[in-house]
Amino acid sequence: MASEKTPIPLGSNFIRAIVEKDLEQGVYQSRQWAGSPGDARHQAAGQVDVAKIRTRFPPEPNGYLHIGHAKSIFLNFGLARDYAGVCHLRFDDTNPEKESQEYVDSITDAVKWLGFSWQNDHEQNLYFASNYFDFMYRAAECLIENGHAYVDSQTADEMRVSRGTLTEAGKNSPWRDRTVAENLALFRAMRDGQYADGSLVLRAKIDMASANINLRDPAIYRVRRAHHHNTGDKWCIYPMYTFAHPIEDALEQITHSICTLEFEDQRPFYDWLLVRLAEAGLLAQPLPKQYEFARLNLTYVVLSKRKLIQLVEEKHVSAWDDPRLPTLAGARRRGYTAAGFKLFTDRIGVSKADSWIDYSTLEDCMREVLNESAERRIAVLDPIKLVIDNYPADQVEDCFAPNHPLKPELAKRVVPLTRELWIEREDFMEEPSKGFFRLVPDGLVRLRYGYVVKCTGFEKDAAGKVTLVHCEYLPDTKSGTPGADSIKVKGNIHWVSVPHAYQCEVRLYDRLFKEAHPGEGGKDFLTELNADSVSVITAQLEPSLKEASAETRFQFERHGYFVADKKDSVAGKPVFNRTVTLRDAWQK
Ligand code: ATP
Ligand code: MG
Repeated sequence: MASEKTPIPLGSNFIRAIVEKDLEQGVYQSRQWAGSPGDARHQAAGQVDVAKIRTRFPPEPNGYLHIGHAKSIFLNFGLARDYAGVCHLRFDDTNPEKESQEYVDSITDAVKWLGFSWQNDHEQNLYFASNYFDFMYRAAECLIENGHAYVDSQTADEMRVSRGTLTEAGKNSPWRDRTVAENLALFRAMRDGQYADGSLVLRAKIDMASANINLRDPAIYRVRRAHHHNTGDKWCIYPMYTFAHPIEDALEQITHSICTLEFEDQRPFYDWLLVRLAEAGLLAQPLPKQYEFARLNLTYVVLSKRKLIQLVEEKHVSAWDDPRLPTLAGARRRGYTAAGFKLFTDRIGVSKADSWIDYSTLEDCMREVLNESAERRIAVLDPIKLVIDNYPADQVEDCFAPNHPLKPELAKRVVPLTRELWIEREDFMEEPSKGFFRLVPDGLVRLRYGYVVKCTGFEKDAAGKVTLVHCEYLPDTKSGTPGADSIKVKGNIHWVSVPHAYQCEVRLYDRLFKEAHPGEGGKDFLTELNADSVSVITAQLEPSLKEASAETRFQFERHGYFVADKKDSVAGKPVFNRTVTLRDAWQK
């Protein structure tokens, strides 16, 4: 029998429920904060924290952020905003390889673009985990001193074998019972560069028989001679992520540390480590707690930095901000908006169950937001010429088009009408199919915001392709005049005056992958790229679009939403990217 579910209030989720309960019970009421991250002694010298909660968004600067990260950003920054807390932006840069300043910059840009800030009441909550290396080293020595860590001399292979399996307990390392003095001496020698990369590992001493493999003496420090973008060559040993992350949270006095489900099995180690360091007096209480939620999986794209790096490096796309990529930089160039992402993250919610979200859900959110906000303009994407033979050759007449049908306060703009117009090729049919109400031989149609015209003929080239359509206008039928309704027509087409048109490059984007779940079933995701994911056309646009500044978004009537490209537009010569069509036209 299906169980009755208690309705969850809009925008609520299980993490909000946890935060509300913690606040109600005063769990963090006397938590102290000295104005910057630090150990127990540092925080004890501070005041009771004015921030009721502290959350963090902790990207590793090893790639650009993607749409999945937006979910985490809205969740973490959103909690802080709604519960009188603060959210830190923390670069989790403890892995020396693959991290760079370009990535750091792109991440700060993306977070700001989504509308969030780490600047709180004179306090900059922007941190780099690599600034905590000294403390992490101290924490490791503290574990050694208290008998909670040892230096292992087994090879990587030996360690793998002795770790055991899901059904079999692991075996203790022969080096597990080294004395504290011996461990300290070896660990210091590791730090001082006396051992080769990968030769020695510092491990937490927990339980090789634990049912949770992550508690079978996990590695916490390894020897790695690698240049670090922040600390240079100061270190030749680096902490493992699972050791570094809880410490970063604790030093920053994070209350609710929110991560994706794959870290659920790491939670016991997270707690074990912080409790050991708090017992030893290194870390302030109360300690942060980890909570896991389901990551965003979105059809027709890949949300993994590793795969995105491959797409960029192997030049399957033009750059990290290619408008087809699901990076936030790409989405921005595509014309997606921060408000659209907000709507999307509200709509998909936060849960503990993994699921796939259909890409069309994201597109619907972008449409909804753009329908409200984007002004309307006229664009002919596949132009053929229409000549109004009974219209004076040198006449220019003003027609008035509303900037936004839902917002009359945005007024109307002038679009010039002349004898020669561009219309869409598909708006004329020599032999109309059933239900085609646009321009046909001898038929009537309204030129939107202008006159009713009657088709009087057409011309073809040698290949039989229509090159030009002739018509005559009915002078009393102009839109907005009393005679406008004297003749009823079924069709209504858009147009742009030939001498006034802005001829312009327009990029029509489609999905990057042909398959909903790229790479599923062991296939190479690259073989599922959509070869037609972009087509570049030359369109005829209404003259006002020439002045559009970069990143202005419009609805091109009857076509969809378009944005003046951020990168390739120059003043007086914008180029446009299609953000999304008006309706979901994707053929399943
Ligand atoms: P990737 O798998 O793409 O490399 P990551 O998790 O390694 O992603 P991080 O830079 O470590 O990337 O992520 C920063 C934060 O964003 C983490 O807290 C992570 O949980 C969150 N995050 C990453 N991907 C998603 C996703 N698809 N949905 C929700 N949150 C995500
Ligand atoms: Mg990662």
